[in-house]
Amino acid sequence: MAQEAKNGQPWGGAASEGEDCGVCDDKMEDMLRGPPGRAALGRATWTLLHTASVYYPEDPSAGEQEDMAAFLASLAKVYPCKVCAEDLRQQIELFPPALGSRAEYAQWMCDMHNRINYNLGKPEFDCSRVFDRWRKASAKASAKASAKASAASSSPTS
Ligand SMILES: Cc1cc2nc3c(=O)[nH]c(=O)nc-3n(C[C@H](O)[C@H](O)[C@H](O)COP(=O)(O)OP(=O)(O)OC[C@H]3O[C@@H](n4cnc5c(N)ncnc54)[C@H](O)[C@@H]3O)c2cc1C
Repeated sequence: MAQEAKNGQPWGGAASEGEDCGVCDDKMEDMLRGPPGRAALGRATWTLLHTASVYYPEDPSAGEQEDMAAFLASLAKVYPCKVCAEDLRQQIELFPPALGSRAEYAQWMCDMHNRINYNLGKPEFDCSRVFDRWRKASAKASAKASAKASAASSSPTS
């Protein structure tokens, strides 16, 4: 079910759903073993959206920016959870995607997900962690740096 309270925010999504709601159940099926419900589909979609954002070109051409804008606009039309598709359409309309660089787009996607988290009563994600969460090379580099720092702090000579 769509969250009924959208906290009165302008980015609030569709408030209700009709019978013809597409993928609208919220059971936590294991999507590897059966058809996904809204939650499993949402997790998979966020995985695609964030991963695409952190691998988006650092300095995208006009064509690459148009491709990503078209991808988001198409997803907002074909996403099989109707209230989620409506959320995405509203987000794009109210907060046009920032497609000028990888850093901008990854931040935009994180902020967009946080507004939906807020509407659903979920905790805010710290966007300074978005590359560590979604980009393998960043995650490895951070893990290496923190292992090095903790080895240095536990060394008897430090
Ligand atoms: C466009 C869209 C609209 C949706 N609208 C609705 C709706 O109206 N009603 C509904 O019930 N469900 C909706 N969903 C599904 C919902 O957002 C969740 O995917 C679902 O509830 C499962 O939540 P989760 O707690 O497993 O984590 P998810 O929100 O699916 O997040 C997956 C992972 O992403 C990471 N993450 C969380 N926040 C951020 C962030 N801001 N930036 C980067 N990474 C982050 C965390 O590691 C988290 O575990 C929507 C999904 C999408 C893609």
